[in-house]
Amino acid sequence: MWHEHSVQTRKQTDFIEITHLAAEAVRQSGLQEGVCFVYVPHTTAGVTINEDADPDVIADFGRALAEMVPRIPFRHAEGNSPAHILASLVGSSVAVPVEGGRLLLGTWQGIYLCEFDGPRRRRVLIGCLGTKA
Ligand code: ZN
Repeated sequence: MWHEHSVQTRKQTDFIEITHLAAEAVRQSGLQEGVCFVYVPHTTAGVTINEDADPDVIADFGRALAEMVPRIPFRHAEGNSPAHILASLVGSSVAVPVEGGRLLLGTWQGIYLCEFDGPRRRRVLIGCLGTKA
């Protein structure tokens, strides 16, 4: 049911495109009509959909997100509270419609694993739900 992938991130804040993992999961599952569900089981990483044409877009996204965390004295002793906050702001899953065995992503859309406390090895779970051929 769930395709699991391990993805190595490269920097403390990193965005790794994983659209191909979702497309491959859909292909392998034989899903024709339904939803491809992408889930990241972590508290300092997340997943989002944004532009994959110009890499400056996702880079700007990361820089802007970092500015959204206030400089307050955090209580969490591990010291990575900003990463926890950003993971929740971005969210831990996305759902993409599937029709005719293809992800219905917009022309400029890609799926990104969002790392906020890397580099680390992250798990990505992908489920293909719906009607198969
Ligand atoms: Zn922590």
